[in-house]
Amino acid sequence: QTAAGIYSWLPLGYRVLKKIEQIVREEMDATGAQEILMPTIQPAELWQESGRYDDYGKEMLRITDRHERGLLYGPTHEEIVTDIFRNSVKSYRDLPQNLYQIHWKFRDEVRPRFGVMRGREFFMKDNYSFDIDAESARHSYNKMFVSYLRTYARMGLKPIPMQADSGAIGGDMSHEFIVLANTGESAVYCDSAWLDTDALALEIDFENDLQPIVDKWTELYAATDDKHDPENCPIDAANLFTGRGIEVGHIFYFGTKYSVAMGATVSDDQGKDVPVEMGSYGIGVSRLVGAIIEANYDENGIVWPESVAPFKVGLMNLRSGDDACDTVCEKLYADLNKAGVEALYDERDERAGVKFAEMDLIGLPWQVAVGPRGVKAGTVEIKRRGGEREEISAESALARLV
Ligand code: ATP
Ligand code: MG
Repeated sequence: QTAAGIYSWLPLGYRVLKKIEQIVREEMDATGAQEILMPTIQPAELWQESGRYDDYGKEMLRITDRHERGLLYGPTHEEIVTDIFRNSVKSYRDLPQNLYQIHWKFRDEVRPRFGVMRGREFFMKDNYSFDIDAESARHSYNKMFVSYLRTYARMGLKPIPMQADSGAIGGDMSHEFIVLANTGESAVYCDSAWLDTDALALEIDFENDLQPIVDKWTELYAATDDKHDPENCPIDAANLFTGRGIEVGHIFYFGTKYSVAMGATVSDDQGKDVPVEMGSYGIGVSRLVGAIIEANYDENGIVWPESVAPFKVGLMNLRSGDDACDTVCEKLYADLNKAGVEALYDERDERAGVKFAEMDLIGLPWQVAVGPRGVKAGTVEIKRRGGEREEISAESALARLV
């Protein structure tokens, strides 16, 4: 922590952040959304145009430049993207559009807490859809809904979409995506059938009507404490799962709220100017680093899902400086690198016990330990994080890891 709610990213955490970012990017690209990069610093005028400058309150960090012009560090980017849109898109023929970025936001949270889970500066994927009419906007919304299910599932999480209020951003169709974790900020009540869902099994064609998938993923009961009413809960006690959850994403459809306020119109097929229908969609990329840890740990430390682990393999030299151990380790490390397997090589002069404990704590999916006894017998020790140790030859270990 560099300042309250403001973090530096050190090597291991930064690798995880980049892995998460890349999964988010790939899933966004798969929907046909296009990546852009908007400034973090925004002019106050655009927010005065939308009418949110005064409403947003103290969470917005306001800045004055040397010419006494009002600037702010963007807490979200609806105004900027609407401005980009109105300056560059004029015809319904150029719709739909969906633009995303993965970038830093600043919100001066009253209570920054739980580390990167609620920071003041945080890394977010935000995107914005533009459609000619409500029906097409609903399809854009559904695309994001379904794509979010896949995105979180690829990180080893079980996302639960929940009907949400749309808060300061405003609007009428909105879902929050929650993942279960004991330390989550909100209490979650849901049908226990949620625990058996598998979003990776979904077959998705983004050109098709996605409403059936959305309907299926919203029919099971799920609510956070502010919505849940124990008196009127549709689930009987035996099938009600009660736990805690972390909000890792939020999607909104808000129609013409910003396009009307800011004059973002396109000409329709009759040549008439109409305000564009918009939605906005966020994923808390830096919050996910914390959320994934909270959802995946045991008494020895983190248990990273392979897709986001900082390295796939932790290679431990149990007797650094011993020629035989060094040779086996260095060859294995080089072979892993050559095969494109990300490996962390612990060659420090530390006791074996310390190395094992720290490797468990870091939580890489695979561990390989090379010690003098094994090397003499032609073996190394391999284990999956949380699994059993096995003694096999270095070649077999390599084959298993590639
Ligand atoms: P929250 O209710 O947790 O404050 P929000 O509704 O203000 O979230 P959005 O504006 O919808 O959040 O932002 C999209 C996503 O960005 C959220 O779902 C969350 O994952 C993440 N996020 C929001 N605020 C923070 C924060 N202070 N630190 C880290 N991530 C955040
Ligand atoms: Mg908030």
